[in-house]
Amino acid sequence: PHGRVFNFSAGPAILPVDVLERAQADLVNWQGTGMSIMEMSHRGKEFESVIQKAEADLRALLSIPSNYKVLFLQGGASTQFSMIPLNLAKAGETVDYVVTGAWSKKAAEEAKKYCDLNIAAKGDNKSLPPVSGWKLSPNSRYVHYCDNETIGGVEFKSTPDVGDRVLVSDMSSNFISKPVDVSKYGVIYAGAQKNVGPAGVTIVIIREDLIGHCRPEAPTMLDYKIHVDNDSMYNTPPCWAIYVCGLVFDKLLKLGGLEAMQKLNEEKAAILYDAITSSNGFYNSPVDPAVRSLMNVPFTIPSQPDLENLFIKEAEKAGMLQLKGHRSVGGMRASIYNAMPVEGVRALANFMKEFAAKHA
Ligand code: PMP
Repeated sequence: PHGRVFNFSAGPAILPVDVLERAQADLVNWQGTGMSIMEMSHRGKEFESVIQKAEADLRALLSIPSNYKVLFLQGGASTQFSMIPLNLAKAGETVDYVVTGAWSKKAAEEAKKYCDLNIAAKGDNKSLPPVSGWKLSPNSRYVHYCDNETIGGVEFKSTPDVGDRVLVSDMSSNFISKPVDVSKYGVIYAGAQKNVGPAGVTIVIIREDLIGHCRPEAPTMLDYKIHVDNDSMYNTPPCWAIYVCGLVFDKLLKLGGLEAMQKLNEEKAAILYDAITSSNGFYNSPVDPAVRSLMNVPFTIPSQPDLENLFIKEAEKAGMLQLKGHRSVGGMRASIYNAMPVEGVRALANFMKEFAAKHA
């Protein structure tokens, strides 16, 4: 329906078609108000009900404990790269970063502007450094890592055990793809535009005791406390993006929550990784099977890299789009977020088989 394609974009990314249809139906006249969500005051009771339900549904999905606040902010996950050091550490204090790819590297570089940065461990884009080998500094304010590197396609399969240190995680590309024990974290943050909703909103889940310690010289907009005290409405929030995220949360709850999503995501990823491993080396995944991402699947055609452009072009003709790898690494990348139906992944796996048979 609607002439939709299978969209493998890493982000902004595919959204569930029924969510889009619902948003379309609400667009001109939301629930008889004669206005769209885009057009109404964020201070009105209508939008208040939207953001409150979105938060309540997200709390239910992730079983977020009551001593955590949920924020809907702007500035992308990239702004969290600055907010975290500015709120959680004073100048000169040490912070630990685990660098496992492009995004955690950016986060670490930003923290270095404000803190004494310790790189506790480094990955090689193929595997993840085992937590037992992380060189955490004795007095660090927090440990930051990226749960799923969107470009490299490496994903942590369980929460790293850092004892009673404050653990901070960038979950931009695997947020709400699986259950997570929020109580093990100090801060979890995610840009919405991959696995959740439209670009423009960033979700932050933060433990209460970490709020209220922002450096006084930091911009007001970068202080978690100002957003907490104002229920994410210190200034105008990204109303429309929050509304669409809310539709997605509601849908996921009805589908059985994050256990159900994880099962589905494991099933989809298995189809794709099988297509790679059963290709007799025609396709290659650079990533250690133990840490292969369920969300972002990079792969190459190692013996004939010239064929990669043809692959992308022919896949496009067959209705499978945005398979080009990140410009920094090349090759292909299939992002298979929650909203990618299993049929899309099957179609890609079949296409890969046919393409390999033609060119091997
Ligand atoms: N972290 C990760 C893991 C990402 O994938 C991205 C976006 N690709 C970012 C951070 C940056 O997010 P934003 O564009 O929302 O600032």
